[in-house]
Amino acid sequence: MQALFFENELLLKEIPVPVSAAGEVLVKILYSAICNTDLEIIKGYMGFRGVLGHEFVGKVTSVSHPLYGKTVVGEINCSCGHCYLCLSGRHAHCSKRNVIGIAGHQGVFAGFISLPAENLHIVPDTVPGHIAIFTEPLAAAVEIFEQLHMKPSKSVFIFGAGKLGLLVSMVVRLQGFDYTTFDPIPEKTAFASTLGIHSKSLTELQAGEKAEVCIDCTGNAEGFGLALEHLWPGGTLILKTTVADPSKPDLNSIVINEFTILGSRCGLFKPALNLLERKLVDPSPLISGEYAFNDILKAFESAKNPLNHKIIIDHRP
Ligand SMILES: [Zn+2]
Ligand SMILES: [Zn+2]
Repeated sequence: MQALFFENELLLKEIPVPVSAAGEVLVKILYSAICNTDLEIIKGYMGFRGVLGHEFVGKVTSVSHPLYGKTVVGEINCSCGHCYLCLSGRHAHCSKRNVIGIAGHQGVFAGFISLPAENLHIVPDTVPGHIAIFTEPLAAAVEIFEQLHMKPSKSVFIFGAGKLGLLVSMVVRLQGFDYTTFDPIPEKTAFASTLGIHSKSLTELQAGEKAEVCIDCTGNAEGFGLALEHLWPGGTLILKTTVADPSKPDLNSIVINEFTILGSRCGLFKPALNLLERKLVDPSPLISGEYAFNDILKAFESAKNPLNHKIIIDHRP
């Protein structure tokens, strides 16, 4: 099968179809999507070498498995199930985990992937593939509420109106918060406004303007410091950004202002699928382009344009 390999550069390579280990099923990839994490990996994040990609919708092709023929999406952390972290319910933090297309596991920019059956979730019939592809990033947005129980009366600033910033904004909006989404690029705040997201240019944010909760979705190293500057003492900073070149925050301000810093990564797929199925979140305006798998290198060029949002790869023949 053809696969997009990263090894100092991106290249299309012919590799064998994976053989499923015990407990795994083979999934034929129907759609995949490019994430900011993929763009950071090609800049050196995680030191990953191999087949890239972790956002997918596929069809199970293992004939003997009860999921055979089902359209599925898959959680990206493959855990051992036996270690202290797994046994205490923290599978996404398993000390022996592999993460598809990010650490130690083949990614989804390929014809097939083999995954543990427990990672897979059936996509409801009413959710088309180009919507279901948003399950993974939407789950990451919903994870904030899995981690932190915020009072709806609290003010929220979201920094970054990129793919994840917009999904986070949509989820925050659902809860009735007084929120604002900031971005330095006028085209991005204008686009956010067309989605009904309360957004402002970063230049409009005054030095003393603060919120109780700041969420960094900037995708760049400066986001941390920026979010800290606009957090009330005693407030919570939620960090969603992972970059190849992390920042060194001012730890004194965290101590002096008694800030709570919350790292937030992957979330549960079921609540995200519920939001998509019930049409409480409509990610369709975030699709900026759709490419055939053979054009995946062009798709990556398109994904690097900061004005583009989700770039989807159609793997179907
Ligand atoms: Zn992703
Ligand atoms: Zn484990």
